[in-house]
Amino acid sequence: MSAEIVIAHLYPREMSIYGDLGNVIALRKRLEWRGYDVVVRPVEVGEPVDLTGADIVFGGGGQDSGQLVIGADLLARGESLRALAASGTPMLVICGTYQLFGHGFTTIGGSELPGISVLGARTVGSTVRMIGNVVVESPFGRLVGFENHSGQTTLDPGQEPLGTVTKGHGNTSTGHAEGARTMNVIGTYLHGPILPKNPRLADHLILTALNRRFGVTELAPLEDAVEHRAADVAAQRPQ
Ligand code: GLN
Repeated sequence: MSAEIVIAHLYPREMSIYGDLGNVIALRKRLEWRGYDVVVRPVEVGEPVDLTGADIVFGGGGQDSGQLVIGADLLARGESLRALAASGTPMLVICGTYQLFGHGFTTIGGSELPGISVLGARTVGSTVRMIGNVVVESPFGRLVGFENHSGQTTLDPGQEPLGTVTKGHGNTSTGHAEGARTMNVIGTYLHGPILPKNPRLADHLILTALNRRFGVTELAPLEDAVEHRAADVAAQRPQ
């Protein structure tokens, strides 16, 4: 029997835009290429899913309307997700799910969507649409991606961002912080999807998961020439 990794995919129906599903495919393929079996467990509204066995948690972006649909269900899973985060489970949450992993999101229409406070961040809808290509300097090297949001996210004092924007907007239209990182939970505005073009970040999530589950300390290297070329092209694009 070969070793198995479980990816919990939060709300693929409502929260998967601008290629976000590609992140799950990238995680799956990079694990399979290294000889692991992968189970992707979709978590949809109202479906009883036991999250305790999840090795990696992923959630993508969505419109305000999608966030309204999943909001209460996510809150109901808040305790298990906070426990997973506190135990060091690697998680990647993007845009709409990132906003709800913070303290909450106030939409431009005035709806209050409470978050699960895994990350120290609060988001308020604005009339500014932050859209375009993004380049970020991060502890995982240069990250490239694409953003499209009007929510402005302010981090709590002491909350680490994922990185610093060198092109594009990130958390707000005026500052340079992008995303948030607490333990092994990463929130970001980067679609694109982010992982195929930023294999170092993908492998960070994978190694963290394999280390926790099997004590793995090093990953077999993969041939990433195409991925790096795609990232270089993306980095050259105008905002
Ligand atoms: N509705 C949110 C915003 O515009 C999230 C958008 C997204 O997930 N791309 O701020």
